[in-house]
Amino acid sequence: MSETFDVAIVGAGPAGISAACLLAEKGVKTIVFERGEYPGSKNMFGGVLYGHDLAQVLPDYLERKCPVERYILETRLWYLSRDGGYNLSYRDRAFADKLQQNVFTVGRAKFDRWFAEQARSKGALVVCATVVTDLLRDGRGRVTGVRVDRPQGELAAKVVLLADGINSPLARRTGLRPEPKPEHVALAVKELIELPEEVINARFNVESEQGVTTEILGEITRGMNGVAFLYTNRRSISLGIGANLADFAKHKARPYEMLEELKEHPLVAPLIREGKSKEYLAHWLPEGGYDTVPRLCGDGFLLAGDSAMLFNALHREGSNLAMTSGRFAAEAILDALNRGDCSARGLNGYVERLQESYVLQDLKKYRRFPAFMENHPELFSSLPSLAGFAAREMLTVNGVPKKTKQGTIWKAIRSRMPLMQLLRLAWEAWRSVR
Ligand SMILES: Cc1cc2nc3c(=O)[nH]c(=O)nc-3n(C[C@H](O)[C@H](O)[C@H](O)COP(=O)(O)OP(=O)(O)OC[C@H]3O[C@@H](n4cnc5c(N)ncnc54)[C@H](O)[C@@H]3O)c2cc1C
Repeated sequence: MSETFDVAIVGAGPAGISAACLLAEKGVKTIVFERGEYPGSKNMFGGVLYGHDLAQVLPDYLERKCPVERYILETRLWYLSRDGGYNLSYRDRAFADKLQQNVFTVGRAKFDRWFAEQARSKGALVVCATVVTDLLRDGRGRVTGVRVDRPQGELAAKVVLLADGINSPLARRTGLRPEPKPEHVALAVKELIELPEEVINARFNVESEQGVTTEILGEITRGMNGVAFLYTNRRSISLGIGANLADFAKHKARPYEMLEELKEHPLVAPLIREGKSKEYLAHWLPEGGYDTVPRLCGDGFLLAGDSAMLFNALHREGSNLAMTSGRFAAEAILDALNRGDCSARGLNGYVERLQESYVLQDLKKYRRFPAFMENHPELFSSLPSLAGFAAREMLTVNGVPKKTKQGTIWKAIRSRMPLMQLLRLAWEAWRSVR
């Protein structure tokens, strides 16, 4: 390839395409490489996308017919024992009118394709079915372009943006991001379950464009640090479960078996009954938080999105951090190109923007959260089991006085969880999110 580009972007996910839209809009010569046959063909996520961050890139995303599945009206949090569970949920009229576009579900195959089309329409070149295999460097080690798996596959670019996701050998090759440790990565599987639109509306008590998200914790991950989710799409439900990679290795658990078990759970089964399984997908996600975020730019390159380990594990936010880091990367690249300085120093405006925004501020706020989850397996074993036992005991009307029941519950708790352990758990939980 003899042509030279201002910017080469690796990956047509939310981070890469956000940057491509903004750069192309400003007339910067931009090329995006995507290994999938089409953008989104290799990607999966739970399904929640954030209108605010998308609107910063494409204010008219609705007029451009963004493929929204359902606007989220209600958010649920379930804490499950093997046979039952607690349900905390919040529904608000505002999410049906003025905040309608706050959070909505999308499918990656449709969304990524649509998003890449918007970048194309602004002038970016998006090249699919092409893997970037290496970074080109000059004699001083500065990144000067990319090598792709095509004949004469060397392409020069003033700046390279790595937006290639969590599994990024290229990020490792920059020397900035080591191979993520298993305890800093989760593996998740998801099944898309097809159901008629009216059935979903009735089961979730919503109207056609409205949806519900459910985050699920408890015994369902068999004592492993993990989480499950159940999100509504227009004519399907996304049901997924994941856990820490290190825990999967330790427990020798199989994610697909866990998903099958989840489908049988009494809170889940009625919601997916008679649904048709449409697809099964698996993916990694970064969960190490602030302390695993690497240096974010070097001479001639930057890292954005999952490639930079930007994921908020507590709030399950990733796509918004990806879109916003892609946007900040584009802004910093524009400044650097204008100044003619694409060194690490010239690109450092990217890091400053991230530090001043919610992206790094939120990750910093929750920097203790990943370790808290890792150090408290009881959150996924004895605690939900005891919580389930307590609720069943109190709700069973069998002639036993409530005071006696309280005594039974307290005894069960004390026998499986010493008071000091409970107090430590509460204190560390508070510290991890304060
Ligand atoms: C199970 C699961 C559920 C999730 N649920 C949510 C959710 O509901 N909401 C949310 O906000 N976030 C969620 N996330 C996180 C979210 O998916 C990511 O944070 C987000 O997709 C990151 O975007 P990205 O552009 O950085 O990377 P990606 O979306 O991973 O995109 C990277 C792109 O780069 C391409 N690529 C990789 N290597 C190369 C290469 N060498 N050459 C060319 N192309 C390459 C890939 O094919 C891909 O298209 C979830 C993640 C998982 C795994």
